[in-house]
Amino acid sequence: MIEPEPQLKPDPGADPDHWHRRAGAASGGDVVIFDLDGVLSDASPRQVHLLGGVPDWDGFFAAGIHDEPLSAGVVLARVIALPIVVITARPAFVHADSIEWLGANRVPFDLVITRPEGDRRSSVEFKAAELEALRAAGYDVVLAIDDDPSNVEMYRAHGVEALYIHSGYYDLGVGS
Ligand SMILES: [Mg+2]
Repeated sequence: MIEPEPQLKPDPGADPDHWHRRAGAASGGDVVIFDLDGVLSDASPRQVHLLGGVPDWDGFFAAGIHDEPLSAGVVLARVIALPIVVITARPAFVHADSIEWLGANRVPFDLVITRPEGDRRSSVEFKAAELEALRAAGYDVVLAIDDDPSNVEMYRAHGVEALYIHSGYYDLGVGS
């Protein structure tokens, strides 16, 4: 009789520093990716930081703690029967704010991924790299939900079905 190969379980202690795992969350297996701004949180009132003159990106991201939740995305997150990975291209300095916001707005999550410190890649490059990192860590991404058409295209190009939410931010030529 041939013994089955032991399943390699990723070690949660080996998570990168910019991955925040909810206590008790499983590592690996089927997951759904949610974007944050424009899917779960309403970033429209702070788009003003990006319009006209020099965009104030720090002001834009710092104001995110005050966002109202977006009903459609939050309801979807609450009813979905798979673990949730929130991936946001927000910079590292609002990592703690983002996790606090998710808790305050009762958005379920298993893993939150923000940019590593000092990361300057485009949102698409960053999210594509994190998708590959998730796969390497034993995750199977069943669906991704994002309001950036470029990210939707990227996920599909990487073999992940993606659901587009129209926030309208990208109609302005800016947004996050
Ligand atoms: Mg977004």
